[in-house]
Parts: sequence; structure tokens; C-alpha cells
Amino acid sequence: MTFWPNVVVATPAHSGVGASLSYRSELALAPGTLVRVPLGAREVLGVVWDNAQAPPEGLSAERTRSIAGVLEGLPALDEPWRQLVQFAARYYQRGLGEVALAALPPQLRDLSNVQLARRLKRRAQATALDPSDRQATATEPALSEEQHGALQALASADRPVLLFGATGSGKTEVYLQATQRALSGSDQAQVLVMVPEINLTPQLEARFRERFEPLYGTGAVVCLHSGTTPAQRLGAWLAAHTGQARIVLGTRMAVLASLPGLRLIVVDEEHDPSYKSQEGARYSARDLAIYRAKVQTEALAAQGGERCQVVLGSATPSLESWHAAGQGRYLRVDMPARIGGGALPRLRLVDMNHQPKGAVLAPPLVQAMAERIGRGEQCLVLLNRRGYAPVLACHDCGWKSACPHCSAYRVFHKLDRTLRCHHCGFTERVPRACPECGNLDIAPVGRGTEQVEEQLAGLLADVRRSDGAPARVARMDADSTRQKGSLQAQLATMHSGEVDVLVGTQMIAKGHDFRRITLVASVNADAALFASDYRAPERLFALLMQAGGRAGRDAAFVSSQGTASEMWVQTWHPQHPLFDSLRRHDYPAFAETELAERHRAGMPPFGHQALLRADARTQQAAQAYLSGAAEAAAALAQAQEVTLYPAVPLTIQRVANVERAQLLVEAASRVALQRFLAAWQPALLECRGLPEARGLIRFAVDVDPLAI
Ligand code: ADP
Ligand code: ZN
Ligand code: ZN
Repeated sequence: MTFWPNVVVATPAHSGVGASLSYRSELALAPGTLVRVPLGAREVLGVVWDNAQAPPEGLSAERTRSIAGVLEGLPALDEPWRQLVQFAARYYQRGLGEVALAALPPQLRDLSNVQLARRLKRRAQATALDPSDRQATATEPALSEEQHGALQALASADRPVLLFGATGSGKTEVYLQATQRALSGSDQAQVLVMVPEINLTPQLEARFRERFEPLYGTGAVVCLHSGTTPAQRLGAWLAAHTGQARIVLGTRMAVLASLPGLRLIVVDEEHDPSYKSQEGARYSARDLAIYRAKVQTEALAAQGGERCQVVLGSATPSLESWHAAGQGRYLRVDMPARIGGGALPRLRLVDMNHQPKGAVLAPPLVQAMAERIGRGEQCLVLLNRRGYAPVLACHDCGWKSACPHCSAYRVFHKLDRTLRCHHCGFTERVPRACPECGNLDIAPVGRGTEQVEEQLAGLLADVRRSDGAPARVARMDADSTRQKGSLQAQLATMHSGEVDVLVGTQMIAKGHDFRRITLVASVNADAALFASDYRAPERLFALLMQAGGRAGRDAAFVSSQGTASEMWVQTWHPQHPLFDSLRRHDYPAFAETELAERHRAGMPPFGHQALLRADARTQQAAQAYLSGAAEAAAALAQAQEVTLYPAVPLTIQRVANVERAQLLVEAASRVALQRFLAAWQPALLECRGLPEARGLIRFAVDVDPLAI
């Protein structure tokens, strides 16, 4: 007998190739089977999507090519996974094959069946745990009443749970015990735990391993993130797909992992922008997690099983999730109290209008830090800009360190005396004199983490720690943590107390459970107060709350010191209303104000948006493409319910000599937006051929964009 499977392969984005390709096979192949198929002169990896009754119309049986082979020993990708991929492709306007194949480890392509069999066997041996070695129970701390309540709610919830828990309220312990409960339900059960950036929080991975490896073996916890090597990624994927791994810990990419036994999805710090992909299919892993739990629950229900729960956790939820909880679509569970009964840090606003001119750090702040260091406490200083200064300038002729390839300035890095473009990477040594006029006196403008570190080291030079040693200042940002292992090493110096003051970008604000920090300072956050991006206040509020959340986490330590923890914010605009909510740690009040404003303006989550983005050799071509696409849209019936705005250049218009422009599409309903985008697709492909769009490099649709 002959079968006619439709197979999806990694067709390049917008290649115009249909959703799947037709092949013939002598074997019946279930949907989800992984296969190798000929494509042109190559052989590629594919996934059987469904089966046709006959060879496709217009193609004779003889001319339909045969499947080259099946990846043996691998179960088929299950239906909930296929539904997830199908949904993601449709919702984010990408090719089905593109999304499906991007979710698979690239190395899977290159394995012969023999190699594959060897790999699977090796994994099985590595994870097999002598049952006598297994511990019956893990040692779990007694839960606080709030944690207990959250766990109960999560067990019985009939919808996604939004865990609104203060920083230090013990959300991680709730995740751990919810995981434990989900896994103990069945030998096949699996749990997906997502975090924004796994490398930033090695503590979390350690806690999951510590808790679950004794119970389920060393292979029970695997990690999936962009930092894993291709071989590791393959190993982790196979373990998850075959059910050997019980817990997948990962970043946004993990949401697309194959997890046939999925029973629980945790999205930690669900507000974090890194859950939204910025390339390829620009999916939101948080939103896909909600969808995935739904289809998984439906599949489990068909087998008479329980639900697949999903929990989104944050001290500062995204306004989307907050709104969904307000409407009852999500179940909100609150954990307002910190473990140990500690207080959240008290806000101290420093009005920079009343500080000495040119001071990077206000004297009262430096004084407060010195006192804390003297008592054996630690401080964090947050500044969201790395390098020494964002611009180097000549005051004689007005020269500035512009990047020749981008519409941006190159950042002055003093440590290695370079000017570096943070957009395209273009790096040069700092010139001795102004390249324009020869003036020797070129000077940094503005400040970055390197400069704050330098200044603080000077200002605290005479301060002694409680053990008599001089105070130690360190810096942590993308530059200082580039080398493998250096981030862990730097975090360790903080945990051990070797370092007294840590200066850094937002990476120091996230998730860390530092025990002896009692003062956190944000030294230059004003730009976000008046940014044009309507999400900027939400981001700033979250960042400051998260940063503040690093202070006073050990209530016993704080009270034994006889102090209170503090969050200092240097600002030129102390009257700004955002600080009122921050002072009261009142996220709900902040959210209410922001949501009211969004409602008035028809902005998300009340309105729905998509961006059409174009990259081209010239700005003119990029905009001509977008305008052409907008014109074509006018002819569509589905365009009635959407608003198309004029094409505009991006804020940073040129990056690496590529000109960038975008066009905003708005709709009152998600459905209307989706309908329009689907109908628009053919025109987007066609407009690439417009003569005035010559020089277009690529276009992309970004559904639910985070920045416009
Ligand atoms: P969050 O993620 O909510 O900011 P964490 O999960 O990091 O908070 O918890 C804060 C601290 O409290 C951690 O040091 C953690 O080990 C501790 N902790 C959490 N739950 C308990 C508990 N039930 N009993 C004792 N300590 C706990
Ligand atoms: Zn000059
Ligand atoms: Zn550049």
C-alpha cells in the first residue's frame, strides 16, 4: 500500500511554500513522526503533519517523492505539541514548518539512526536510578500560611493562576512544591519551569536539582536555553521528549519543547520582556504557555486525567496578566508578606535639584552606604547603562562619538580604552584627540556603570568594613560577565560577603536571593519617566520594585542590625506620581492608574496591535515597501476593522548600515487583527517586488509587540 503523508520542513520564512509538502511512503506514518525527506537536492528533517488520501492534485503518483527515512526509536510528537506549533505559526504569522523545525534541536538533522539509537541508550543508562537510591521524600521547609494557600489554590484552580507575590515572599518554594505534587501524580508527569534568563539565576537551577535529583535521578532535571551547546540541547530535548526528564528548566525557547507528560507550567517573573522573542516567529512564551496548558488539559481530559496547570508568578505582573486576572480569566493568588515577616525597603527619594552640581552620587546616599558597610551590610547600585559614558564629545567643534554604521553613539569604555557601538559591535580605540579638529580635550558625557564603580571606589576609599578591611566595590554587567563562569564567580563574591557594594545593570536586580543587602540605590532612571514608549513606566516600576526586592530579604539579619532596609532613588522629578505607588509598594494602585490610561487610549490590553517592520538599504525603500503594503491592505474587506498608521523610521533608524522602518496596525479586537493579518499575508509577499521597494532586505510581522 502507498501512503501520502504531508510533511512540514524548515522552509525559509515567507518563501511562499505552502504549509506542508506531499510525499509518498510505503509505511503508514502517524502525525508527529519525525522523518527525513528529500527537498531539492538536499535531504532535510521534517515532521509528518497529516496524511492525504491520494497524491496531491496536479502531481502524479510517480512524481511525488518518497520519504527518505524515519527517525527510529523516537515517539511521534504528540497532538498537543502539534496544536501548540500550529497555533504559534498562525497567531504570529509565520510558516508552520518554520516554527515546528525551529522548536527541534538542530543536531537532530545530522544524526543517523545508529547514532540516534546510541544516544537514546546512553541517556537511558545515565538517568536510570537504582530504586534503592531514591529518597522517598525530599526535605521541604514548612510552608508559610500564604505559601500553603497559594499551593492549595494552584491545585484546584480551573484556570491559569497569577501568583502575585512580593519579592521575598517565597514564590520559588511554591513552584518547587507544586512541581513535587505534579510529579508525584504519575511516573510520566513532567513540569516546565520558565525563567527569563537562566544564567542570571544559577540559584534557581541549583534549588531544583537539589530538591529533585535525589528523588528522580540526576537526569531528571534538564535545562534548555540559548547558552546550551548544540549537543546539550539535543540531549535535553531528547530527554524531555522521551519522558526521561521530569523537569525542564528553561528560557522562552523551552515553551516549545516536546513534553508529552506535561502537568504544570511555571512562568517565573512573567512580566519580563525577555519572554517575547525578537526574531523569527516573534512569539510570547508567556502567552504560549497559557495556550499550551489549555490544549494539554484538553488532551488529559480526553484520557480522563487531571489538568495541566499554569502559574504566572511576579511581584509586578504585566498589565496584560493583571487585567486578565481582573476580568476573572486568570485566578489571582496573593502572597503579600515576606518570608520571616521582613518589611519591604523604605523609599528614599533624592531630589537631584538640591545636590551639588555634577554629582553622580548624592552625598547623603554615599554617607548612608558608608554607614551600612561599616556595620557589615551590603549595597546594590543600579544603573541601566554599561560602559564608562554613553558618548565621548569634543567641546570645541561639537564632534561626538557617533557610530559610522548606526544612528547611535558609540559608548566610551574606559577599561580597555575603546569606543564601542552597542548596536552593531563596531569597536575602535579611543582617539587621542578629536578626529575633527585635533583638540586634545575630548570628554565623556553622561555616565555608565564603569564610571559609577570608579567614583564609588574613590568616595568610599576611607571607609572600613566591620572587620577593618577597606570597603570593596565591584561591578556586574554584560561586560564583566562575558567569560564563562564569571557571572557565577561574581555572584559568589556577593553571597560570601567579600564584596560590599555591587554596581550593575538590571542583571543585578533580577531574582537573586542576597541575604545581607540592606540598601539598594537607583542612580539614573529618569529617562524612563518620560520615554515615548508607552510601556516605559511599567518597565521602570517593575525594575525598581525588583531592585528594591533585593534589599532586606533576611528579616532576622535586618533586625539584628537594628536597621531597616532602604531603596534610594536619585531623580530630578521626585514629584512624579510613579514614585507615590513605589513608596507604598503599591503595585495594584500603579496598575490601576496605568490601565485606566491604556483604556482611554485604546492601548493593550484594551486594544490590539501588530507591527509590520521593514529592513532595507535605504530608509526610502523600507518606507516604500510599508506604504505599498498599506495600500494593498486598503483593498481588503478585513481592513475595515483595523487602523493602519503611516510608516515611520524606528527610533534607532539605522543599525549596521541597515535602515529600519515600521508601520503600526491597531484593532479593537484580537480576532479582527488576526483576520486582517492573515488576509494581508499575500500582499506582504507581493509588495517585495515593488520597484520603489528595491533594496528591501526583509520584512517581519510582530504581533503584540512590546515596543512601538
Ligand atoms: P521570591 O522568589 O518570592 O522573591 P524566594 O523564593 O527567593 O522569594 O524566597 C525568599 C527566601 O525565603 C529564600 O531564601 C527562601 O529559601 C526562603 N524561604 C522560602 N520559603 C520558605 C519557608 N517556607 N520557610 C523558610 N524559608 C523559606
Ligand atoms: Zn573637535
Ligand atoms: Zn554601530
